Order: sequence, then C-alpha cells, then structure tokens
Amino acid sequence: MKTQELILASRPKGMATKNNFELRETDVPAVKEGEVHLKGMYYSVDPYMRGRMNEGKSYVAPFKVGEPIEGAVIAEVIDSKSSEYSKGDKVHARLPWRKEMVVKTDGLQKIDDSLAPASYFLSILGMTGLTAYFGFLDIGKPSPGDTVVVSGAAGAVGSVVGQIAKIMACRVVGIAGTDAKVKMLKEKFGFDEAINYKTNEDLKGAIADSCPDGVDIYFDNVGGPISDAVIANINFHARIVLCGQIALYNATETPNGPRLQPMLLTRSVLMQGFIVRNYSARFPEGMKQLAEWVKEGKLTFEETVVNGFEKLPEAFLGLFHGDNKGKMVVKA
Ligand code: NDP
Repeated sequence: MKTQELILASRPKGMATKNNFELRETDVPAVKEGEVHLKGMYYSVDPYMRGRMNEGKSYVAPFKVGEPIEGAVIAEVIDSKSSEYSKGDKVHARLPWRKEMVVKTDGLQKIDDSLAPASYFLSILGMTGLTAYFGFLDIGKPSPGDTVVVSGAAGAVGSVVGQIAKIMACRVVGIAGTDAKVKMLKEKFGFDEAINYKTNEDLKGAIADSCPDGVDIYFDNVGGPISDAVIANINFHARIVLCGQIALYNATETPNGPRLQPMLLTRSVLMQGFIVRNYSARFPEGMKQLAEWVKEGKLTFEETVVNGFEKLPEAFLGLFHGDNKGKMVVKA
C-alpha cells in the first residue's frame, strides 16, 4: 500500500521556503506483532522546527535531508497487532509527516477525545499549553498586581500565558502583529492592553505608556527589537522568561542588540531560558490544571486549522509571517 510523506528536501539559508520540502510517495509496510497502523488526523506545526531544519547541535537532533519531517501528531489507529491498542483509538505521538504509518507502540500516548476535541491535545492540553503553564508560573513567579508583558501574545503559547496571568490577578499587556490580533487579545483573552508592534513606531514608549508601573514579568516568545523595547522598561527584581526567539530563527547572522547586562545587574533582574521538556515529570500536574481552567471557563483559546496534509509546509512557514491566531494545526 502507498501513502504520502513530506520530507526535508534541502536545508534553508535564511527564511525557509516551500522548496525546502518535498511531497513524495512511500510504502506502508504490513503490520507486525506489537505494531499499529495509524492514520494522521492533526499535525502540529511549531516554530522550533525551523531550528531542526538547520545542521548542528541543539537540544533536539536536526531533521535529516531526504527523510520525513517529524513532529507532534494526533492519529487514529486503523489496524492493530498490539494488545494495548484497538481500532478507533486516538493517540498523540512524535511521528513522521506521513499520511499513514506503521509504528511500534512505545512513544504513543492514548488520548481521550471525549474529554476535549482531539486537536486540543496539540495545544491547550499539549505542548504549547504546558509551555505557558510552567514557564510563566515556575520562572515568572507571578504575584497579584504584577505587570506582565507577553510578546508573540496572540499565538499558541502567548495567548495562554496572558490568560494565566489574569487568573493570577496580574495586569497583562500583549504585543502582536496585527490590529485584529490586538482586538482579540483584549476582547477574547482579557488582556488589559495590547500593542501592534508593526504599526507602532515607538515601541519602547508605547510599552512605557501601557505599563506606568514598569514591567515585573516579561514572557519573551520572540526576541529581537521587541524584547529590547520591553527590557528597556524592566523593573527591579523583574523576571524575564526566555521561551522563544522566533524573530531570529531565520537569521543568517547574529544581530547586535543593546548590551543588557548592566541593566539586568543593577536592577537585580532574573532572565532564564527553559525548554518545556525540562518539566516532563510534572506534565500531569500541568495538564490537570489546564483542563480544569478550560472546564471552568477561565481559559479559552484559538486554533488556526489549515486543511490538507500537503499544506503542512505552507502552514509551518505561515508561523513566520503571523498567519496564525492561537495554535496553528493542520487537519489531514
Ligand atoms: P505562535 O503560535 O506564537 O506563532 C508564531 C507567531 O510569532 C506568529 O503568529 C507571529 O505573530 C509571531 N512572529 C513571527 N515572526 C516574528 C518576528 N520576526 N518578530 C515578532 N514576532 C514574530 O508560536 P508558539 O506559540 O507555538 O511559540 C511561541 C514561541 O515560543 C516561539 O518562539 C517558540 O519557538 C517558543 N516555544 C518554546 C518552547 C520552549 O520549550 N521553550 C515550547 C514551545 C514554543 P505576530 O503576528 O504577532 O507577528
């Protein structure tokens, strides 16, 4: 039997393009004892994948040229030779970008899609929700009344960070790239203020105006000039949560920015990077709390669903052009 897969055709230089991917046919082998045959339902596209397209050592191995891209997928079991899985089960796993595949069952996690729609396990009840939860609470250490600034605020992680900050009784200011996103932050997610960084010529001044008491927690999803403008408004004993640097993922050279250390030093600021995987032992705690907040109506979210397996590269590349509101997922 044949299926389709998306491979890394070449490594990008600068901004990744559709030409770095290739759609091709491949065989689906017969199912052996201990294996399952899966059909992909929802595929996650995430900014960190841009790093995996490069060669070189990182916290996760690079994709190999000529081999399928791999990422978080929600799939349905359509045939099983495993006693643990039955036809119709839905699973979450790190899987190749193939329409159908036969895999061993270690690494698969059953999801209960009677609790929430299947795609939520890629967002609010999955990696991006957990990133917001642990990064903000563990490193940000919010107190009621703190002023929180979130960059990449209208995306999968940022929109959840802002809402958790509101649950923690903080004042929240979001930064995003369109007026529609700014509106959504205030009207749907309850941010106190939101700034369009693309139309605001004096971002540092706009942040100062929105944060008259300074910034106590900066949740940084983007890096680059936006972060320079936020950090210029940072308070004594503030916490900077380094979650992502999407503004730099396609850069070919490391840009020079202001030297921040004197300000961090004299204002006793903590700046800490993290990878969500650091918290894997505590994922059940995070999932439980996120699910409770969703159930109680305290946490809402947004998904941008792109239809069609072959649209995966387009959806992924759209992340770097702000095409998504909330979590970007592809429905096969
Ligand atoms: P998003 O859903 O936020 O999608 C990316 C968004 O980033 C776009 O919609 C766009 O929004 C914004 N963006 C793109 N390019 C730029 C740029 N040059 N400057 C400023 N903003 C830009 O992605 P996620 O929520 O999944 O991820 C957010 C960040 O968190 C990423 O940097 C990601 O790598 C990181 N991350 C880190 C994890 C960790 O373990 N540390 C885990 C998961 C994510 P706009 O229209 O506002 O420009």
